Amino acid sequence: MTGRLTEPLATTLGKRAAGPLAKMGLETVDDLLRHYPRRYGEPGRLTDMDRLQLGEHVTVMARVASATVRQMRSRGGALLQATVTDGRHELSLTFFAKRAGALRPHEDKLRPGRSGLFTGVVSEYRGTRQLTHPDYILVGVDADDDEEAMVEASRPIPLYPATASVPTWRIQRAVRTVLDPLTEDDVVDPVPDEVRARLGLLSRLDALRAVHVPDSAQHWQRGRRRLRFEEAFVLQTALAQRRDRAAAAEATARPPRAAGPGGVLGDFDAALPFTLTEGQREVGEQIAGELSRSRPMQRLLQGEVGSGKTVVALRAMLQVVDAGGQAALLAPTEVLAAQHARTLRGMLGPLAEGGLLGGAAHGTRVALLTGSLGAAARKEALLQAASGEAGIVVGTHALLGDQVQFADLGLVVVDEQHRFGVEQRDALRAKGRVAPHLLVMTATPIPRTVAMTVFGDLETSTLTELPAGRAGITSHVVPAANPRWNERVWEKVREEVDAGRRAYVVCPRIHPDDDVPGGKQPSSAEFDVVPEFLVPPDGEDPDRAPLRAVLEVAEMLRSMPRLDGVEIGVLHGQLPPAEKDAAMARFASGEAPVLVSTTVVEVGVDVPEATVMVVFDADRFGISQLHQLRGRIGRGGDPGLCLLVSSAQPGTPAATRVEALAATADGFELANLDLELRSEGDVLGAAQSGRSSSLRLLRVVKDAELIAEARAEATEVVAADPGLSGHPALAAEIAAQLDAEQEEYLERA
Ligand code: ADP
Ligand code: MG
Repeated sequence: MTGRLTEPLATTLGKRAAGPLAKMGLETVDDLLRHYPRRYGEPGRLTDMDRLQLGEHVTVMARVASATVRQMRSRGGALLQATVTDGRHELSLTFFAKRAGALRPHEDKLRPGRSGLFTGVVSEYRGTRQLTHPDYILVGVDADDDEEAMVEASRPIPLYPATASVPTWRIQRAVRTVLDPLTEDDVVDPVPDEVRARLGLLSRLDALRAVHVPDSAQHWQRGRRRLRFEEAFVLQTALAQRRDRAAAAEATARPPRAAGPGGVLGDFDAALPFTLTEGQREVGEQIAGELSRSRPMQRLLQGEVGSGKTVVALRAMLQVVDAGGQAALLAPTEVLAAQHARTLRGMLGPLAEGGLLGGAAHGTRVALLTGSLGAAARKEALLQAASGEAGIVVGTHALLGDQVQFADLGLVVVDEQHRFGVEQRDALRAKGRVAPHLLVMTATPIPRTVAMTVFGDLETSTLTELPAGRAGITSHVVPAANPRWNERVWEKVREEVDAGRRAYVVCPRIHPDDDVPGGKQPSSAEFDVVPEFLVPPDGEDPDRAPLRAVLEVAEMLRSMPRLDGVEIGVLHGQLPPAEKDAAMARFASGEAPVLVSTTVVEVGVDVPEATVMVVFDADRFGISQLHQLRGRIGRGGDPGLCLLVSSAQPGTPAATRVEALAATADGFELANLDLELRSEGDVLGAAQSGRSSSLRLLRVVKDAELIAEARAEATEVVAADPGLSGHPALAAEIAAQLDAEQEEYLERA
């Protein structure tokens, strides 16, 4: 960025104009130029005033119908009453002053027939909607001559994200003041000339002019497209560089053992109670091949809930163990970490007792490291990791701690990626002497463009098929207010329990008197219950019953005659770890075949006999979360039944979500819908961490093609010039966008 763009607005505009802009976070010329209009008013197209809400701060485009000043008899002082119209509805504008003279300039400007923008808070006076002392600007009135007035009057009007104290046209004026004198030399372009020429894109300066001072709708559309491309391109270039750097890094090759006895993987495969699906075999071979190279694998494994990602990851870990290295498995919850450790130990049998008397000679140890371990157990686990005695270390965020060291870390597997950010992946990877191989697994399928944007530094493999013999899941919406349906829910639960199967009952809260869903904020090391994963209510009915709570529902079920003699278990994030384990074990064994829990069972928990899931307040959960939740049932040979108890009013987004869930089991379809219903920020949020702020115009769903195009161009640019020495403006733009943590990563890498 050159001098002019970095100049403080206070210097360019003066302190008075810059002050309110600074409150909006706009400090420099560049900040202001990146404050893009939210939409455009078309001259001549007036706002539909029927839609105005009382109390709302609005900006309307309207035509003046009348304006008259009069003395107020009762109170003294003068009043200017104007009426503006959209052609069908009217809105009053009211201005008060001590003397009529003070109102004349307004009267003079507000001539019938002129149109303009009026902004203020909508109120009502004697049944008429009005704006009191609105701020306004009239189209073409402030121009220097008639010709300019004509041009101005025919331009689309940029409408900026504004505040009550800085209306949109103040911003517009400020933008014009800083933009008009700029030249191509001031605005260097991060998009290389040849890319721009090939794709027919405007220069950066022309694009800024197009979005801020458009001649026509096509003009601003072209400008926005170019700026969206730039956002995608800068991000994709950064990702391409990351891929490139990783590909150039040294890793230790961990080839599979030759066939034959003596390997942990071979023994594991021999003990596997099922045959791998075609997809598992293919992806497995791909991973085995990449682990055999001396370049670090960088792979994202995504797939449908229940498609068997875990087995693929475990086999990769065992290959590394066989080759003499260690593997770390990072899980998002303690429950899941403990389950993975149990599964591994169970499947490895005597192999998991390597070094112990009676253990297999070539076995290895599985260490579990979570935040809530006691001091002695923790020390033991740390020791096993550091000495290399544990070939496999399973854990939660505790694995990221500074004290955790490995003898020879060869592979990092991140399970259920949704909740781990880029920094966390990097922190774990930094624990290897040389770069370890990396395998990231998503919890639910994600749309291709999200994969390209959020996980764009990784190659992707996808498991599309479910293992054979799955009977499938049926989902139904149960209206919370319908007693007969609710009866039926517990009847069904009873039937399944009597048939030897299990039921999950999921609630959004732990205690009935918690006002925060999910109970008190969980410690940062654990994501057992994440209140913000509940979707805020939309158009909620004030009579709606409070959200259901685990402890209350468990009590209700225990006293329910229909469930007489059925042991009801309870699981939530506030239980001590030993009790969590015990609750899971009693559920898995069938001793307590009904488990009332929070979303701790959301990710990865695997009890094949579970066939029913009742989700209370389903309308308050997000789509991917519900899809993930119901993936806990129907994992064995018996069909699953998911009952989504909902209080959503028909037609609301909440109702749409729950109905979509009931209608399809296709995770990719749901992921796309999810993306359409949620805001970008939510999607990119945690995973994107820091970078999302640089995506202002880009929309991951709508701009899929643009993102793909940008990715192709970026890959080419980086291939030809990895250090971007020939593209200083692009390098500078990337540097500007990396936050401190990411810069740290680059130094380490
Ligand atoms: P996810 O992809 O959701 O992580 P999991 O790896 O947890 O799925 O697998 C779901 C269940 O399917 C587990 O009980 C697992 O043991 C089982 N499974 C995995 N692969 C197969 C297969 N090829 N055939 C039968 N069952 C399988
Ligand atoms: Mg899993």
